[in-house]
Amino acid sequence: MKSEQLLYFQISVIFVKKRTLNIFVLALGVLFTISASYALIAPDDDLDKNAVPAPEIVISDNISTPDVSTPQLESLPEDQAIDEIAKEPTVTTLTHRIKNGENLSVIFEKMALSKKDLYRITHSNDLGKQFAHLRVGKELIAKTDAEGQLQELIYRKNAIETLIATRHSDNFDVTIQTKDIKTQVASTKGTIQSSLFLDGKKAGLNDNLVMRLANIFAWDIDFALNLRKGDQFTVVYEKHLVDGQQVDDGEIISAEFVNQGQTFTAVRFIEPDGSKHYYTPDGKSLRKAFLRTPVAFARISSPFNLHRKHPVLNRIRAHKGVDYAARTGTPVKTTGDGRIIFRGRKGGYGRTVVVKHGQKYTTLYAHLSGFKRGLKTGSRVKQGQVIGYVGQSGLATGPHLHYEFRINGVHRNPLTVKLPHANPIKKSLLAEFKAQAQPLLAQLNKAKASHLLAQNQQ
Ligand SMILES: [Zn+2]
Repeated sequence: MKSEQLLYFQISVIFVKKRTLNIFVLALGVLFTISASYALIAPDDDLDKNAVPAPEIVISDNISTPDVSTPQLESLPEDQAIDEIAKEPTVTTLTHRIKNGENLSVIFEKMALSKKDLYRITHSNDLGKQFAHLRVGKELIAKTDAEGQLQELIYRKNAIETLIATRHSDNFDVTIQTKDIKTQVASTKGTIQSSLFLDGKKAGLNDNLVMRLANIFAWDIDFALNLRKGDQFTVVYEKHLVDGQQVDDGEIISAEFVNQGQTFTAVRFIEPDGSKHYYTPDGKSLRKAFLRTPVAFARISSPFNLHRKHPVLNRIRAHKGVDYAARTGTPVKTTGDGRIIFRGRKGGYGRTVVVKHGQKYTTLYAHLSGFKRGLKTGSRVKQGQVIGYVGQSGLATGPHLHYEFRINGVHRNPLTVKLPHANPIKKSLLAEFKAQAQPLLAQLNKAKASHLLAQNQQ
């Protein structure tokens, strides 16, 4: 069946039937018929020209099973052509954008797909289960045959990974397609004029990279209080590209920050388990073994003072910790990795947790309103883990956390004590670290030199 033939046929019909109508309506009718016939015939043309199986009809959102072979075509006399179309595997593509509250079962119902197939896919293998974890806003694509039977289910997890379930007779084979990520190394250098965010942006770093830069050096530099005009930073970072498009914010591989004349250098190390940490060039951790404060956004209501007049007892009694005023219920975090050695009531301290960190260090958290559930004496805790909540149990005039820091049993001022570095690179990994670090440091130095050159030439 040729398109011209059909067009001619339909136009003739209109001429015969609508002869009495005025020219304007007729013209409209012809226009409409031309476009309608073209849409009808286009698939046929495709088949002739390319001999590829079947047109793909994309239907977004409103799911209904589209009728690929239209009634008009079937009623036409040329059986030969119709048989050819019917013999071709006709694939219909349904695209559905996942909405809030929808799961695979709901979507299958909307797409009029078989529940049996849903079961087969999610129970095919470990990858199949991933179809049960769909994210709102992503697209699920179903390809069905002429009978509306699901042949292929496609879920693009992200820019890199696509999950594909393919029918093999009565079962589905689920595979994951992974695109190649190309890594590009970039570098930049900047000088602080107003703020880390503005000057970082000026140097070409996006907000997330600036945040990462700040996090790397947060243990050594107080970016809120101690940043100075003229401070300098150099950053070597990775851009990850898929099909030429950047797929994430990028990752810092080495960086240097000069704060008030003091230079801090960080190099990324990929541990054998795949996790990434930053170390100084000689393998010390940039993290400290302790957080400076155990509560976020709290005000210091009473500092460490060995000659303080006690507010409740009203006599001189050393205040061997720091008080943080905070609302009752504010989470209290352990400042370092360790093991809980006391959890209960302790006289004037009220509800108290004591954590032991290695052989030398203990920290104490007092006046709590409650303890974190699931923890007990003997439990291991990680730096930053919530262990209890601010309160005013024991001898206290208002809700606050009383925090103590002891080295070999001696109270030290938590605000000024020199905090030890977190664990350095494991001795067994030191050689590996040096090998990884050397080219990264070379890149950093090259970046410093080239940007310096660029600045001098300006
Ligand atoms: Zn106190």
